[in-house]
Amino acid sequence: MNDQLNISGEKIEELQNLASQNLFMHAQQINDWAGNLKIFVKGEGVWVTDINGNKYLDSLGGLWFKSVGYGRKEIAEAIYKQACEIETPPSNAACIPQIELAGKIAELYPDKSARSFFTSGGSESVETAVKMAKKYQINTGKPGAYKVISRRYSYHGATAMAVSLGKPSTSDTMGPEMPGVIHVQNWDSYRIPNNINPVDYAIQCANEFEAAILHTGSDTVAAMIAEPISAAFGIHIPPKEYWQRLREIADKYKVVLIADEVITGFGRTGKYFATDHWDIIPDITTVAKSLTSGYSPLGAAIATKKIADSFMGSENEMFRHLITFGGHPVSCAAGLKNLEIFEKEDLVKKSEVMGIYLLNKLSSLKNLKIVGDVRGLGLLAAIELVQDKKNKTKIPLSFEIQKKIPNYLFDRNIITFRAGDIISLCPPLSITIDEIDFLVEALTSAITKVEKEI
Ligand code: PLP
Repeated sequence: MNDQLNISGEKIEELQNLASQNLFMHAQQINDWAGNLKIFVKGEGVWVTDINGNKYLDSLGGLWFKSVGYGRKEIAEAIYKQACEIETPPSNAACIPQIELAGKIAELYPDKSARSFFTSGGSESVETAVKMAKKYQINTGKPGAYKVISRRYSYHGATAMAVSLGKPSTSDTMGPEMPGVIHVQNWDSYRIPNNINPVDYAIQCANEFEAAILHTGSDTVAAMIAEPISAAFGIHIPPKEYWQRLREIADKYKVVLIADEVITGFGRTGKYFATDHWDIIPDITTVAKSLTSGYSPLGAAIATKKIADSFMGSENEMFRHLITFGGHPVSCAAGLKNLEIFEKEDLVKKSEVMGIYLLNKLSSLKNLKIVGDVRGLGLLAAIELVQDKKNKTKIPLSFEIQKKIPNYLFDRNIITFRAGDIISLCPPLSITIDEIDFLVEALTSAITKVEKEI
């Protein structure tokens, strides 16, 4: 019996057995966790408590989303209140939180007339954005435009279309991808070819979009999509010229520019939107995760006025797209309260300030032989481990570093699974200096241990 949590050993065993027999864990090999599933029962701030009463600092903030931290009772109360009043509207109607949240997003977004199409998560937001771009092209004189240009090693979601945008696919291959996807080079700030100035290299990488458009025919290209900072590809921060060049290319060839801010949106990088750093406005921005900090599922495709207005007119122009639970009022109530906390506690500024502190602390790791690079913006950061610093050689897969680092961190009361040769950090924006110190000490210990083994 765990006295503190009041959960008996028998109950824990029963849960483990049930999970082993009846539960799929997302993207995890069943026999890796069966009988030993990590089960959590409480959370507060950056800390989570497992079913045995052990406390861990969650350095990835759930799956990149726990921006206000765990255990915010005000959000739970807002959810409860909305569910008690009216949880969903009748069809073709709205509830108050949906309207207010769309207004709040527009207030925070650089285009104050932006319009939000609510979804229930990131993949749906990407699906929505791409469909919106295609319909925009039909409505504005490029009806043959159906192709989408995305970047290799990016991640835009798990649904059939969204998964086609990433390459190599992070899901099992299941036959042909969506026709019309063209993949170009991603941005890598660590392995810039010798003697090339980073800004020139960034422009060169961005120009791959133009080359693809010219090669395939600009009349056939509906959209180009990229994450401002790709977490899937290792959190490389581009110089502002990269996104400015993407904006220029999109304008020149009348291609819709989609910024996938599912991870970076809402304060993660020290601005409400990462593209705010670079003074550009995408045509559509996709968001999810931190919109509610994971208290309830919600996403959105945020369209600028230019895009949204193209759907006005007759039945022919309308954006015929529907997701039953997209923008669920209970989730929107959670989103509103979440963003209220952001403002009350100045979390976006905190992300900037604590991000600088975190990056400074992490830079001490560069003294270790296997730490090749430390990078980040706001409270989104990465440490890249290499076998040989001079040549930036990758650690061989056979070393199984993606199992070792999470295990060593777990021994130091840090929980994360996005920690292999690239250790990703995405803690709640409410993290304190003491907690960052605790995290960096644990990282130092885990990496030192690996260094010795290598
Ligand atoms: N886009 C990006 C950049 C993401 O990181 C993710 C998920 O991690 C998605 C889209 C898909 O979001 P979801 O898992 O909520 O469908």
